Amino acid sequence: MLLNSYPLLVSEDMVFRSKQATMQNSISVMVYSLSGLDRLTEENVSTAMAVVEDTELSRILVTNSAGKVLYDTRETGSAVGSYVLYTEIVQALTGSDAFSCAYHNGAFRSRGSSPVLYHNQIIGAVYAYEYDTEQAALLDGLQENLLRLSGMIGVAVLVLSMMLSRVLTQKISKLLNAIRQVREGAYSHRTRIAGRDEIAQLGEEFNSLTDRLQKTEDARRRFVSDASHELKTPLAAIRLLTDSILQTDDIDPVTTREFVADIGREAERLSRITEDLLRLTRLDSGVLERAAVVDVLPVLEQVLRMMSLVAQEKGAELTYEAAEGCFVMATRDEIHQVIYNLVDNAIKHSGGAAVQVELSMEDGAVVLSVSDNGPGIPEDDISRIFERFYRVDKARSRAAGGTGLGLAIVRDTVERRGGTVQAANRSGGGAVFTVRWRAVTEEGDVV
Ligand code: ADP
Repeated sequence: MLLNSYPLLVSEDMVFRSKQATMQNSISVMVYSLSGLDRLTEENVSTAMAVVEDTELSRILVTNSAGKVLYDTRETGSAVGSYVLYTEIVQALTGSDAFSCAYHNGAFRSRGSSPVLYHNQIIGAVYAYEYDTEQAALLDGLQENLLRLSGMIGVAVLVLSMMLSRVLTQKISKLLNAIRQVREGAYSHRTRIAGRDEIAQLGEEFNSLTDRLQKTEDARRRFVSDASHELKTPLAAIRLLTDSILQTDDIDPVTTREFVADIGREAERLSRITEDLLRLTRLDSGVLERAAVVDVLPVLEQVLRMMSLVAQEKGAELTYEAAEGCFVMATRDEIHQVIYNLVDNAIKHSGGAAVQVELSMEDGAVVLSVSDNGPGIPEDDISRIFERFYRVDKARSRAAGGTGLGLAIVRDTVERRGGTVQAANRSGGGAVFTVRWRAVTEEGDVV
């Protein structure tokens, strides 16, 4: 619309201006040639006008001060002798110039007038009228061209935007379809959107999201099946033992006691597993107790005091070397749990050898290392021992009272507070677990 109307309005205006200029020019020439006359009569006006008559104009009228026509260029239907009171003439007779121009029905109609003065007295008026179809035809042509051009642009824009919207909607519906599939549980579904635009990037992001979703889902499935298996084993043992007691006639009290003691051990194992599972679920939920500054040394000493009896029982030698002033942001229970699990593992898996605990500060970190000189961890298993329910030797771990969750709890607990834990084998034999927490000052400021 702008393309069609603005240039036309501007060119129309330009034509109006040029018409006004040329018409006023012609009129002033006529007025000038009449200005020497003291009175206007048909004769003297005709004589004066014969010299200046402008052939460009369609009609010229000269009236006297009363509006009576003295001169008319139109031959048929000449207005000479009659009174003509066109607006322009009336305006000229009151002393001012007038001009009007209109574009209508393919023609410019311009009207202009000026008073004729003699000694500052209005003695008449000159009126000119022009009917121009030539410039109007040019304007029409321009309008037609513009219309054609904007029509072409309109069609091109329409076609292009339809193509673009089709491409976009195709991509979006592909993404939508992928989202729906994943929502229904098809986590392996991946979408492939061509291009490098935002929708293609969205597709890639969606794929990596689905990747993670699939991994989490796989881990969840594995965890549920492992957990139910772990819970099933002691339950099956309990069932077996109770059945044996119930179905054996004349069972002697010593065997009964043994069986009941076994049932007690299995029940204890069940409660250990459920406790560990609960601990992991709490860690998974992401709800953390508010961290406070914890001095690691007293916690370490408390755990070691507690564990020394167990170590003694197993014939393991438990020693430690610890620096003072090791503060971390966590909770006392968390630090206790981590040290307990690692020392417990070292005693359990070292098979009665020496267990050494070290606590030190290194490059702004509090480092806790628990090492033993047992058989160590097979290299292939090192990367997996922190997984839930992963054990190198299932039977041995069970026999030692392990749940397979101890190291998973250690890793989750430490990582939740921004720390790290690593397992390695010592060159002289045995395993070493190293935990690093970010060290803080006693006031809780970063070191
Ligand atoms: P578990 O209850 O079996 O100890 P953990 O998660 O604590 O479960 O440990 C996982 C596995 O890592 C253990 O089954 C064991 O095979 C191995 N492991 C842990 N600590 C040690 C260690 N100090 N020496 C050798 N192997 C270890």
